[in-house]
Amino acid sequence: MSIESLEPLGTPIALLTDIDGTIHSHECTTRFATEVWPKCKDHMFLIFLTGRTMADTLDSIRSYELPQPDIIVADVGTSWRRKKTNTEDQHPFLFAVKRFPRNEVVRIMEGFQDLNIQETCSPHRASYNIVGAVNKIMVENALSNLMVDCLWSQDYLDILPQGVNKGTVASHIINCLIPSEAVVILAGNSYNDSHLFIDVRQPCHRVVPNDTDQSLIEELSRSTDCILPEGNGVDGVLTLIQELLSDTTKGG
Ligand SMILES: [Mg+2]
Repeated sequence: MSIESLEPLGTPIALLTDIDGTIHSHECTTRFATEVWPKCKDHMFLIFLTGRTMADTLDSIRSYELPQPDIIVADVGTSWRRKKTNTEDQHPFLFAVKRFPRNEVVRIMEGFQDLNIQETCSPHRASYNIVGAVNKIMVENALSNLMVDCLWSQDYLDILPQGVNKGTVASHIINCLIPSEAVVILAGNSYNDSHLFIDVRQPCHRVVPNDTDQSLIEELSRSTDCILPEGNGVDGVLTLIQELLSDTTKGG
């Protein structure tokens, strides 16, 4: 356990958030960087979890002028980078990630005409654009002998190392890398964030922007023991942080 990068002045806040459509949307990015971040950076542990590749994520943090997060979790949970060490080889599920049988997955998936491979992803996942009426059961049956999970979205399919996704990685971070007294906020807006809301069992605030994908809301509604996200609004994430900040500074 290591929390050296966090020296809380008030109650620590851990924000585990998706980027596109969540912390980066409309006026949200500028407001986060100029109004919220300066007030909370001394007691916020910031983690980005995104479906982008690591290189693309680093580019977008620069171009959107977002703060440097403590941890970047890219490639839908399969890539990992900590600010302190600037390395990508300390993934909490390194064993599962490294043994991902990408070549075998790609070979099997060549049999499915309605899926176009995305060429620019990490070696530890295989992602496809859905371009036709693919039979999901047949795909999953074809991959059933491999240690992989299929994460279906409306337009694409992510094939991931078994047990590795935004939610399981977030859960590890909350358990092992942030102070237990931290107020935890989870934020996401699309289907690949469903694990973030469903698999994280620790007490936390869950927020979604009000233009969240309907498929995410439907998925969360189907999951009987998921607590539905509480916040909304174009800047629901920021509003919640600002409310928490005013609460934590009152006491401190
Ligand atoms: Mg998003």
